Amino acid sequence: MTDKPEQGDARMVQLRERLEAVQQRIARAAAASGREDNPPRLIVVSKFHPAEDVRRLASLGVRDFGENRDQEASAKAEELEALGLTWHFVGQLQSKKSKTVVRYASAVHSVDRAQLVTALEKAMAAQQEQTGRGSLDCFIQVSLDDDAGAHRGGAAPAEVPQLAEQLEAAAGLRLAGLMAVAPLGADPDQAFEKLLGISTSLQRDFPGATGISAGMSQDLEAAVRFGATHLRIGSDILGSRPAVR
Ligand SMILES: *Cc1c(COP(=O)(O)O)cnc(C)c1O
Repeated sequence: MTDKPEQGDARMVQLRERLEAVQQRIARAAAASGREDNPPRLIVVSKFHPAEDVRRLASLGVRDFGENRDQEASAKAEELEALGLTWHFVGQLQSKKSKTVVRYASAVHSVDRAQLVTALEKAMAAQQEQTGRGSLDCFIQVSLDDDAGAHRGGAAPAEVPQLAEQLEAAAGLRLAGLMAVAPLGADPDQAFEKLLGISTSLQRDFPGATGISAGMSQDLEAAVRFGATHLRIGSDILGSRPAVR
């Protein structure tokens, strides 16, 4: 389990270059917003890419990885268990998958409905009894789309307070903050400004809910401008993947 990837393999060289380029973009964006001392956390979204790439990135110092399908995520987390990585679930989650997700995930960024909170709470009760694991960080995914037709998932902003109360009251779950994906074709600055506004009002009632999970390869600079605490970066580090959603 401890076989180290070859430092000189071509993929390793490519991943190192791309990772450094993204880290520089993040550092520049943080500096431009006066956030040198409080930069966002980088989550590398490894969906569709093999466990071997995760192992390479881990050897370059990445600790946080994101996945959006339970089957793929469970397999990678199990194979790489010895590395002690932090797994973030960022995709649409069916309630019935809660039981397996809580085996490996430290955080779920896509909590978007009451029924899922109930399922995660129940799954965490069983998991904590078995393993004593710490609580699950939960981000409420908010839809920033005005047009419900073009919707990329998430609860309506008006549903956030109720979900937050439910999460706050749930044993084993910690209300970490909000997550969003900028609507396709929209101005990311406008989208993330709206998200920051929703977060500011959430934090008035729930001061611990400081997380803002926003920003992908295309729009990380805008997300940092509007207070992102977690960035979810896939293709600019790992390269393209089949266009499926
Ligand atoms: C795939 C994915 C990402 C990463 O997107 P890139 O554009 O490849 O950086 C971020 N967030 C979510 C929810 C995703 O599904």
